Amino acid sequence: MLKRAQKDKKIKVSYYNPREFTKDKHNRVDRKPFGGGPGMVLEAESVLRAAQKAIGRKKNVSVIFFSPSGKQFDQKYAEKLAKQLSGSTAQLKKNSKKKSGHIVFLCGHYEGIDQRVVKILKAKSISIGPYVLTGGELPAAIVADAVSRNIDGVLGNAESLEDTRIASPEVYTRPEVLKWKGKEYKVPKVLLSGHHKKIEEWKRNKKK
Ligand code: SAM
Repeated sequence: MLKRAQKDKKIKVSYYNPREFTKDKHNRVDRKPFGGGPGMVLEAESVLRAAQKAIGRKKNVSVIFFSPSGKQFDQKYAEKLAKQLSGSTAQLKKNSKKKSGHIVFLCGHYEGIDQRVVKILKAKSISIGPYVLTGGELPAAIVADAVSRNIDGVLGNAESLEDTRIASPEVYTRPEVLKWKGKEYKVPKVLLSGHHKKIEEWKRNKKK
């Protein structure tokens, strides 16, 4: 989906590796934590230089730092970020006067990034869930996906149309009766009834 969105110039994604911005002759960016503790910490300067390169002269840039103890990422925030980005997709189309928007994701690794980076870049700490992953790359992909699908034209026509109706956590498709290992599994009757009001009500109840 993200590949198609980039091809269609709905979004643009660039990557910056702090290793390419370190002054260390061995390209190291991990350092021992002050005060002790397990694991290594990504040094501030390499990350700041990479972020600086990503930001360049862009205006309207939000910086997001991924952290398991950040604010829980949710649909509302995805929609807010998509609105901000919509300007930047407009910018991709020449002659657009819409203001551009950009998001820089700071992906931690090891024990995380030197906290001063978060302060300097005024980054917002975001968590994608109450568990700890090894790095911020998956959180970045998740947020990019959730945000992109809220940008006009990223989802195909059929999918966009679906979004104007009530989306349901439970969905069914053909066949009406699925035979699996000697058992039959039926689609809920209401979905085959053609009774739109009842169908919407069923979907709403499934969301509770
Ligand atoms: N030392 C950190 C702590 O105690 O919270 C954990 C660091 S984690 C092993 C490494 C990196 O993965 C983090 O800096 C963050 O960027 C990313 N990460 C891990 N879990 C995450 C989550 N649930 N949400 C967002 N980012 C996460």
